[in-house]
Amino acid sequence: MALTATPIPCLSDNYAWLLRAADGRLAVCDPAEDAPVAAAIEAAGGKLDLIVLTHHHGDHVAGVPGLVARYGAKVIGAAADRHRLPALDQAVQPGDVADVLGSRTKVLASDGHTRGHIAFHIADSHILLCGDTLFSLGCGRLLEGDAGEMFASLAALAALPGETLVCCGHEYTESNARFAITVEPDNAALQARIAEVRAQRAAGQPTLPSTIASERAANPFMRAADVATLARIRAAKDTFR
Ligand code: ZN
Ligand code: FE
Repeated sequence: MALTATPIPCLSDNYAWLLRAADGRLAVCDPAEDAPVAAAIEAAGGKLDLIVLTHHHGDHVAGVPGLVARYGAKVIGAAADRHRLPALDQAVQPGDVADVLGSRTKVLASDGHTRGHIAFHIADSHILLCGDTLFSLGCGRLLEGDAGEMFASLAALAALPGETLVCCGHEYTESNARFAITVEPDNAALQARIAEVRAQRAAGQPTLPSTIASERAANPFMRAADVATLARIRAAKDTFR
């Protein structure tokens, strides 16, 4: 049974992702805060079965206690991060298969932004929940991991089917675009994506989900040919204004 994924804006630029099964059951990924997520849940039927977490940062987990208290939702997160995540009902590791509202969900290693970061690939629904690893036209800062780990993480995501929906943790696409075009000024797919992003933001719409095919064509971090190239452009982005 396939799921749909809808972004819920949280804080200034975060997205939690509301997952909905055909039978109406709901899950949420990375709730940065509880109020906007609870509002979305109430609008969608008022029950929350499951919360899935990609990594331990507060802007991805701070809504968990309030949502668990209100809805009694179960929580899935990385075993490696158990010591710094809200209480988990199911601790998973890369390679595991979890059940998300009846859909078989592969847990992927996604180190780089943090160590212990994971991603969730729900193949029957073409949904990727990738937290702060892959953004549209960007990737997460290397706060704990290194460029080699991020390179491996992005390569694993690039290998997913092109139609896979990239459901990431932040609306960073416009600022990522300003940097990306300095790396690949002649990339026609990037130019087209930037035009699309400008139109989406001008209309007040999210730029997400993107797709793996779009990121493979336009995202210089995913397109980096080797670890050294990724390290160089990630460092350049860190100081880009
Ligand atoms: Zn983060
Ligand atoms: Fe974040």
